[in-house]
Amino acid sequence: MNEGTVEDNAERMADLAERIAAVQRRIDAAVQDAGRAGELPTLIVVTKFHPAADIRRLAALGVRDVGENRDQEASSKAAELAGLGLNWHFVGQLQSKKAKSVVKYAHALHSVDRLALVDGLERAIAAEQERTGREALECFIQVSLDDDAGAHRGGVAAAEVPLLAERLAAAAGLELAGVMAVAPLGTSPEAAFEKLAAISAALVAEHPGATAISAGMSQDLEAAIRFGATHLRIGSDILGSRPDVG
Ligand SMILES: *Cc1c(COP(=O)(O)O)cnc(C)c1O
Repeated sequence: MNEGTVEDNAERMADLAERIAAVQRRIDAAVQDAGRAGELPTLIVVTKFHPAADIRRLAALGVRDVGENRDQEASSKAAELAGLGLNWHFVGQLQSKKAKSVVKYAHALHSVDRLALVDGLERAIAAEQERTGREALECFIQVSLDDDAGAHRGGVAAAEVPLLAERLAAAAGLELAGVMAVAPLGTSPEAAFEKLAAISAALVAEHPGATAISAGMSQDLEAAIRFGATHLRIGSDILGSRPDVG
């Protein structure tokens, strides 16, 4: 993408600052409404399809957590921006063969959805920790909140969470952080996130440290906060609409 002139860049910077402030105001209001004062969720800015230059601007504006959903794009941006001290969150579906690449840059993986992937991640993180001494990889189990399995947007059924959690909790170098979900299209996000909160509570009963809930996107962050989200994944309301690719 074209980086534009100096004036364009100043304009983009001001635009991003304004959009971050607006999202922050929504978050603050929702936290107040939910009676969760003092429990600010982590804001992850989802930067997929937007250029590395925008991520530099976000970092200059104080953003610390960014999200990507494709390994190739994420790994090249993370390499280019290695000096910025950002936490990279991988939020897309991940093929097992990409585990090796993801553990090189990711702080957290929000989309663990099968046992075979945990096998691959465990091997990959062991090699990476041996090489660099990196911290454990935070892992979220992605849960499908769709009743219609055929239409779902990724993730495991609630009934499959305990087995996957057991496996993750036992894996060296992987930290079971909690659950993640995307609200299904065409239903109320409140109902979906209420369901997710119940799944989270059942998980925490077995794994007391796994308290994180990654939920809430541009359209539904208020509902997610109301039902206990600890991590928000916001893309378009901060960066604008994505170029229409893939
Ligand atoms: C793109 C994406 C987001 C951000 O969505 P917006 O609607 O742009 O805020 C959040 N979560 C996941 C998994 C995504 O792929």
